Amino acid sequence: MKVLLAIDLGTTGNRVIAFSQKGEVVASSYSEFPQHFPKSGWVEHDPMDIWNTTKKALGDVVRKVGAGSIAAIGITNQRETTIIWDRKTGKPVHNAIVWQCRRTKDMCAALARHTATVRRKTGLFIDPYFSATKISWILRNVKGAHRRALAGELAFGTVDSWILWNLTGGTVHATEPSNASRTLCYNIHTLSFDPELLKIFSVPAAVLPEVRESGAFFGMTDKKATGIEAPIHGILGDQQASFFAQGGWEKGVIKNTYGTGLFLMTLAGEKLKASERLLHTIAWQLNGKTSYAVEGSVFVGGSCIQWLRDGLRIVSASPETEPMARTLASNEGVYFVPALVGLGAPYWDPEARGMIIGITRGTRREHFARAALEAICYQVRDVYEMMRKVTGQRFSCLRVDGGAAKNDFLMQFQSDILPLNIERPRVIETTAFGAAGIAGISSGFWSTKQFLSARRVERVFKPLMKVKEREKLYARWKDAVQRSLHWEK
Ligand code: ADP
Repeated sequence: MKVLLAIDLGTTGNRVIAFSQKGEVVASSYSEFPQHFPKSGWVEHDPMDIWNTTKKALGDVVRKVGAGSIAAIGITNQRETTIIWDRKTGKPVHNAIVWQCRRTKDMCAALARHTATVRRKTGLFIDPYFSATKISWILRNVKGAHRRALAGELAFGTVDSWILWNLTGGTVHATEPSNASRTLCYNIHTLSFDPELLKIFSVPAAVLPEVRESGAFFGMTDKKATGIEAPIHGILGDQQASFFAQGGWEKGVIKNTYGTGLFLMTLAGEKLKASERLLHTIAWQLNGKTSYAVEGSVFVGGSCIQWLRDGLRIVSASPETEPMARTLASNEGVYFVPALVGLGAPYWDPEARGMIIGITRGTRREHFARAALEAICYQVRDVYEMMRKVTGQRFSCLRVDGGAAKNDFLMQFQSDILPLNIERPRVIETTAFGAAGIAGISSGFWSTKQFLSARRVERVFKPLMKVKEREKLYARWKDAVQRSLHWEK
């Protein structure tokens, strides 16, 4: 039996999944890696941890399915996270600066005069979220790095490039447009890295990877490095991958992923309309055609539940929040604005900070759990409303995925607060399935039809809440958000 391998490089861990021709999971392995928070608002990973956990998960799956059965490999990854390494030794010069990291907020503020140019060329905002200022930070802060970068000794990559480099034994330094379009260095109209942008962000061209199609052949895995020889046939950023798996190429499809962050995405159509608060980005490039998407990225989604677990320690596992929230008939006026790393879409305020308001002597752990789950849903409504405005579209349902989408309370409250039908698929790890999809379609393992038919809806959640109650809750949320803005000066 032949299988398609997806390598899913997430923010908290790496997963490898083998899919059969029918789209069923035949083997999988997951390996978590440590998160580093060296200062308030800073987030790092050790790139060697990312590679070693990938290698381990890959080894586990290959042992289960057999090295000879792998038809092709697809890669999907946490986007924007920035790694710079030495081309000769393959050693990183600094820890990876993670997408959530806010350390370059002052650098971004100092570049404000370039906002219009950057917006026009990249579809993004000047924000610490994206790679460019992270690259520049490493080159400025690691001794000799800028000089070495100019001399062509260093390579920059998002996590896809870093792992591709390692999988191919240090022979391929490449990426594709769904990742490149998140660097702030890539012009989404000319489909190339843009000299004017590189100048604005002080990024030397010599560090950049080659950009191939998302469904390109990227090279063979190196037997010495990985134990196998298999073709790598597709790469997509995580959100684009899940959008791909949700059938995002059809007009009118909108998806949201409830992972570490929250990411809504819908197709932008041929002509991009200007939007104030959402991102325009490349969905994928396949068979010579580039598809564009509109995206709303919320930085803290499921990770506020993780914080209840690891920071406050009021739950020992994320799913416990569901029965806790259900013990209350309402939020009883308690709101949690999870601006733990500032706020992303649609507020874009790196100076916002987390806030819990409305607590009284009667407030218990249950209120915190409920407020955190509700906050996830309100944030999705913020972005959803903006998306309807920008695209001028009406949507009939929201397709959901990601770890926290397993929470039934969360899904019902989401449906109530939007209000909209929520469609939850049988396999909610759609990111890996999307990566397998692009590699499977471009390598001929699947036809597009075969791939799409593997998607199955497990459950539909329908709005039940009264309009008056919904709007009252949502208005209080908006009020709470206003109080959290511009806190950190
Ligand atoms: P990522 O791929 O971004 O690393 P996942 O899609 O695996 O994340 O989602 C995990 C996130 O969802 C974690 O932040 C976790 O706290 C949260 N989560 C997982 N299960 C639940 C649940 N049942 N209820 C609420 N949150 C959950």
